[in-house]
Formats: sequence, structure tokens, C-alpha cells
Amino acid sequence: MLYIKEYLVNFSVLITIIYLAGFLYKQFLVNSSQKLIAFSLVMIAILAGWCSMFFGIHLNDSVIFDLRFIPIIIATMYARNPFYILLVGVGIGLARFSFGVTEAATAGFITLLILSGVGMILSWTTRSWSVYSKMFLVVFSLNFVNTGSIGYLGVIPLSEYLQVILPSSLPINILLSFFILWIVKDLSDEYVYKTQLINSARKDPLTQLYNRRAFMHYYELYTTKKKDVFPLSVAFIDIDHFKNVNDAYGHIVGDVVLQKVSSLIKNNLRSIDIISRYGGEEFVVILPFCNEEDARQIMERIRYTTETHPIVVEDLNINITLSVGIATSPVIEAKKLLEEADSALYAAKENGRNQVESAKKDNIVSSMVAYN
Ligand code: GH3
Ligand code: MG
Ligand code: MG
Repeated sequence: MLYIKEYLVNFSVLITIIYLAGFLYKQFLVNSSQKLIAFSLVMIAILAGWCSMFFGIHLNDSVIFDLRFIPIIIATMYARNPFYILLVGVGIGLARFSFGVTEAATAGFITLLILSGVGMILSWTTRSWSVYSKMFLVVFSLNFVNTGSIGYLGVIPLSEYLQVILPSSLPINILLSFFILWIVKDLSDEYVYKTQLINSARKDPLTQLYNRRAFMHYYELYTTKKKDVFPLSVAFIDIDHFKNVNDAYGHIVGDVVLQKVSSLIKNNLRSIDIISRYGGEEFVVILPFCNEEDARQIMERIRYTTETHPIVVEDLNINITLSVGIATSPVIEAKKLLEEADSALYAAKENGRNQVESAKKDNIVSSMVAYN
């Protein structure tokens, strides 16, 4: 007999758990620490193994035949640390005893220990292999080890082993292993692809800073949704006479200068600051919980460092300077921060460049008068 019903239920249960694991990962785990993610996935793999036994083929009072080895195959393919494969094996092995402490359960435990041991070795030796080569080796090795161990430990009657397990179950198990790994790979590829897409929609490709779209998102969030980030400062940073850099050294060197200035700005800011490339050679920074005096000090440090450290591109030493305009709320009305910082930048340019200028309260009064 081929136990088609049990195979189908077992397969469906594994697929359901895999989809649920993907859902939980995306919804709750994605920003967690690597340890918590790994621990949660190990627990889910053990649960998958237990469910597989629960819905498995209960050959007699003590012998269960199922797909419990498949979570170990998945762990071998994806675990970053081989130790987690052992945890999955031991976990499913212990879970086997929940169906009765029998000789068959002990044999099952030993088989799972052997499988996870082989899984650890495979995971380590194939760490630089292509995914498909690794998949072939892992699926065939672990299926043969699993079937071999079941036969060697003699938990399944010999006639059943020779007539069903070897000719039918082994090939079916191999096919199902491939099919499930294919599904897992598809889910994880899709997740990686989606993350890359989201990142590329938010980042500027040259500097890897936030782009204007992401900047506008945070700007709206901080200035209109009354998020408690006050005092809030916005700084516009513009490279002085950047056109001359392109004219003198070419656009390729100009691009490298833009990258290096971006890093310099980023390295001088806090992790909560939002730094974006607003356009060409203009950057805009949102500084939450930062009053005007602090914003000025930070921007002055960035300006001074840029002025005193020439940008090195191959054998060139390129001197550049920055002009910066700052606006701070509550001195400036929150929704006008951007345009007031821009006006302050213009003032810095007009006053001779290479300086930091702050928007004054008078600006907002006069611009309000102008609107009336
Ligand atoms: P100012 O001091 O008034 O700001 O002068 P500027 O030359 O910096 O300003 P302007 O707006 O006249 O020129 C900006 C230059 O920035 C012109 C453009 O070629 C250059 N630029 C903009 N985006 C890029 C880029 O992605 N790569 C390179 N290499 N240059 C860029
Ligand atoms: Mg400029
Ligand atoms: Mg400019």
C-alpha cells in the first residue's frame, strides 16, 4: 500500500507551516535580532516535524512513518549556523517521544540525531556551493541516510521495508523534498527581491543615502503628523561651485566626490538623523530632537571638516567647501522648515559661501506678510 492520503496530508501540513513561517517572519520577525529569528525558525521547524508525525502513517502501535526529516533538510539548506540544524534534529527527536516512549521512538530519535549530524557536516562543507548543487547533495544524502537508518535500526518490518519503503517511499520522499525546497526557495527569493525593491525605491543609487521620495515621507511624517520629535531642525547642504569640480576633473571624479561627501556627512550625524540626497549636489538632513544651537554646531563641524580635509580621488586632492542653511522648529513654523532652510542656504551662498546660516524668525514673519 502506498498511503497516498497520509502523504498528501503530511505534504499539505508542511506547506501550510512553511507559508505561516514566511508570514510570521515578514510580519513580526523581520526587524528582530538574528538570534531571535533563528530561535523562532528552529521552533517552527520542530513544530513542523511534530505535525508531520501526528499526521504520519501510524504503521502499528509504535511505528510512525512520515516526513519529519524534511524540516532538517530545510534547516541544512538555510541555517547560517550548523548548530541550529542539531537543535531542529534534537527537538523533533524529543517530540517523537510524545507519541509514546517506545523502542521505535528511541530509534526515531537516533535517526534524527544522525540526520542532523550529517546535515551539519553538509551545511559546513557546501557553504560556498551554488544553491542547486547544494540542494541535490543535501536532498539525496539526507534521504538515503534517513531510509538507511530506518532499515538498519529495524523499526519497520522487513517485508514492508523491502516492498514499500525502498521502491516507493524513497523516490516519493526525494521528489517531495525537492518540491518543498523549491517552494521554500521561491518564498525566500521573493522576500529578498521585495526587500531589494523597497530599498532601491528609497535610496539614491550613487550615494546610498535616502532619495527625495523617502525624504518627503519622513518630512511629512515629522512636520505634519505631530510626531514628538521637537525641537526639530532641517539642514540644506550644498557643495560650493561643484560645477567647477566636474569641469576640472570630469563627471566620474565628480561622482566619487559626491559619494565621499555623502559619507562624511553621514559619519558626522546620529543614527536617528535622516540624510538624503535632495538633488544633484544638494543634501538635506532632518535632525529630530535637535535645537538650533546644536544643529549649528553639528553643521559647522561638517563644514569645517570638509574645508580642512581635501577629498582624495586616486592621486587627486580636491578642495571643496559647503554652504548650509538651517531652520529649527518651534522657532520656525514646522511646515515651513524646508523652505526656510533653503532660504538660509541662499543667504549663506550670497554671503560668500563656505558657511552655515540659520533661518531667523523674522523670515517667517516677513514671508507671512508677503502672503497676505
Ligand atoms: P553653487 O556654489 O552656487 O552651488 O555652484 P554649483 O556649481 O555647485 O551649482 P550649480 O547648480 O551651478 O551646479 C551644480 C552642478 O552639479 C552641475 C551638475 O553638473 C553637477 N551635478 C549634479 N548632479 C551630479 C551628479 O550626479 N554627478 C556629477 N558628477 N555632477 C552632478
Ligand atoms: Mg552647489
Ligand atoms: Mg545646488
